[in-house]
Amino acid sequence: MIRHVRLQVTGVVQGIGFRPFCSRLSDEIGLGGSVRNTTAGVVIDLYGDPEGIDSYIERLQTDCPTLGHIQSITIVLDERIDDTRERPFEILDSHGSGGEHTLIPPDIATCSDCLAELRDPTNRRFRYPFINCTNCGPRFTIIEGLPYDRPLTSMSGFPLCGECSLEYSDPDDRRFHAQPVACEKCGPCLSLVSREGSLLAQGEEALLEAIRSLASGGIVALKGLGGFHVACLPQDLPILELRKRKKRPAKPFALMVRDEKAAEGIVKLSNFSRQILNSPRRPIVICPRRSLSGVSDHVAPYQDSLGIMLPYTPLHHLIMEEIPLLVMTSANLSDEPLISENGEVMEKLKGVADLFLVHDRRITMKIDDTVIAPSGKRTILVRRGRGYVPHPIMTQRDMPRVLAAGAEMRSTFSLGRGRIIFPGQYIGDLKQLDTAVYYEKALRHFIRLFGLRPNLLAADLHPSYACTNIAIKVMGRPEDTLLVQHHHAHMAACLVENGHEGTALGIILDGTGLGSDRNIWGGEFLLGDMGSFTRVGHFREAPLPGGDRAVLEPWRFALALMEKALGPGDAERLARELWPTHSHLFGDILSTLDQAPVTSSCGRLFDAVSAVLGIRDVISYEGQAAMELESSARGGSRPAPFGISEQDGKMVLDWEPAIRWILLEGLHLGAARTSSAFHFGLAEAISDIALEISRRTGVRETVLSGGVWQNRRLLGLAIPLLKRRGLRPLIHHTLSPNDECISVGQAAVASVHWDGRTTK
Ligand SMILES: [Zn+2]
Ligand SMILES: [Zn+2]
Repeated sequence: MIRHVRLQVTGVVQGIGFRPFCSRLSDEIGLGGSVRNTTAGVVIDLYGDPEGIDSYIERLQTDCPTLGHIQSITIVLDERIDDTRERPFEILDSHGSGGEHTLIPPDIATCSDCLAELRDPTNRRFRYPFINCTNCGPRFTIIEGLPYDRPLTSMSGFPLCGECSLEYSDPDDRRFHAQPVACEKCGPCLSLVSREGSLLAQGEEALLEAIRSLASGGIVALKGLGGFHVACLPQDLPILELRKRKKRPAKPFALMVRDEKAAEGIVKLSNFSRQILNSPRRPIVICPRRSLSGVSDHVAPYQDSLGIMLPYTPLHHLIMEEIPLLVMTSANLSDEPLISENGEVMEKLKGVADLFLVHDRRITMKIDDTVIAPSGKRTILVRRGRGYVPHPIMTQRDMPRVLAAGAEMRSTFSLGRGRIIFPGQYIGDLKQLDTAVYYEKALRHFIRLFGLRPNLLAADLHPSYACTNIAIKVMGRPEDTLLVQHHHAHMAACLVENGHEGTALGIILDGTGLGSDRNIWGGEFLLGDMGSFTRVGHFREAPLPGGDRAVLEPWRFALALMEKALGPGDAERLARELWPTHSHLFGDILSTLDQAPVTSSCGRLFDAVSAVLGIRDVISYEGQAAMELESSARGGSRPAPFGISEQDGKMVLDWEPAIRWILLEGLHLGAARTSSAFHFGLAEAISDIALEISRRTGVRETVLSGGVWQNRRLLGLAIPLLKRRGLRPLIHHTLSPNDECISVGQAAVASVHWDGRTTK
């Protein structure tokens, strides 16, 4: 007697080498059978001894290829049979693959096998910049629809040559059913184009010419996986020129580094950062910079860290073999979305790049590089894009057919189906018209790709968010709409990500979001769960003079806080010393403070402290003042004093003692120590309030979400302080704590609100 089981496996199990993996596993364990793709997922038949089969099922999950994600393994058949003849393990051709149980894999960095071939002069793909296989290459960025098969990718225009075709159809070949498979004879080709639009060279010659230009200080736009990059040497002259042409005075640029050794020369790498850097998802990793790195300070002005990434396409590898370090920044104009089309890049960046290294494989869906800031052994996603999207978030309850429209600034959308939330990629600031176009296009793409038909809408309370209007335009009239408060959405996103269904205390710190009382919230203590919440505490409110200008000019809110701490006379006197260039505006602002809207924003508090300490009074990119404040902190110190009080049954975190201390003592101590004390004091005050609320309610799970939690210093201080008080912090792991997670949170709230109104 032997055992026969049939398994149905769902999740991200196509396009990642899952079937060859199944075959290797059965060879190792000594089982016969087969694996095939069906519309209901991957179906595996196994014949052999019972323990072997148990271990196979276990290892399917533990050893699953890195980019795979098993959602469920169902044993649909388990029997004993008499037939004990030897069986091989076969990979069967996939018929009708795709369908609603298929999840699409993200784009995957060039694997070591392909790299070896790329460097092997005897290989027929020697130096071919589009080499890939079942385990690596573009996926999400070339797919137009399901089933994930070549005709529905942007490879459809490249008919396979004889040799590629043999590899593609041979189950024992490592390119079996690799949809983007290609070679020099049949695949995409590089072209080098001048800024006037004339074709200068093709193939290897184009590559060499682009490398020559980069090496001699030129600025080259080059087509990657999810869009174009603009590249140049990390030296003063090319960078200053690039900053001028791109109209980007200070926002940090990412660097591509040849290998770990090149990285070691410019940043300090922990083992954990090394792991993330080398992962096949290949994100940009933010690492502490070395002081004498040879990298120009203009790469990341006033930052103590650098964002670096390793090459992730064959083209990158070929370039980086010649040049160990390159600035590699998203190709766009100021805050517009990434550029992904050849025509568009030529038109928009003709004043930015000297040369354009393009190719003829179309990017069906653009996507930015993912940015990760490791903090100890924690990954903080600063931007979720390539390599991570379209990986889903698994939920514990059935999702309604909901479209969650997200937030305005760091906008994303999410869609629900079954027990899955599909978060879209980082889109950007919807105040830009081009970004709104990108949002709509990406949303339509997701709906088509996953075969979703949302009929319910979850959206922010804010009445005039562009994302909400675009969502309605795309889905038609929703059957029902749920408005979700911004900070509750943050909390729900973190809860669903951590699979926590119970009550928790949310410490939600960010820039701004509309509160239930129509005021601007941003430093919030919320008690609740995925379904509902009560605001049990908040940062003390203060007037925010100048509306949107206050975000761009942190000195405005700083002046308002100084007025509360010192009174108008002393505030104005001190402000004249701190920011003489704005002094003509002080009188008006101070006399109309009581008419300004009030906010409890924690993000604005960071900005204000940055302005008071002379670090940044006017910003040129989002988050600049707070980021530079974090970067400036040095040395241990005692905590800056914060006040805690109770008002109308809510805990209030009062910044006034801290602001007064900074003005009276901190300014003499210097920015480094004062910033350090500010972070420390704030972390303590937050933890004390959390403990007090926990004492009263018995709730110990503490959710940390909101853009402020990208601050690694604050997070690194707060987590141990909370734990020491017996609380259990929950943080984001696969989503960003910033507003990119809002749409996931809205979907999570919707799952409770519309419980029972499921997909089926
Ligand atoms: Zn490969
Ligand atoms: Zn070929």
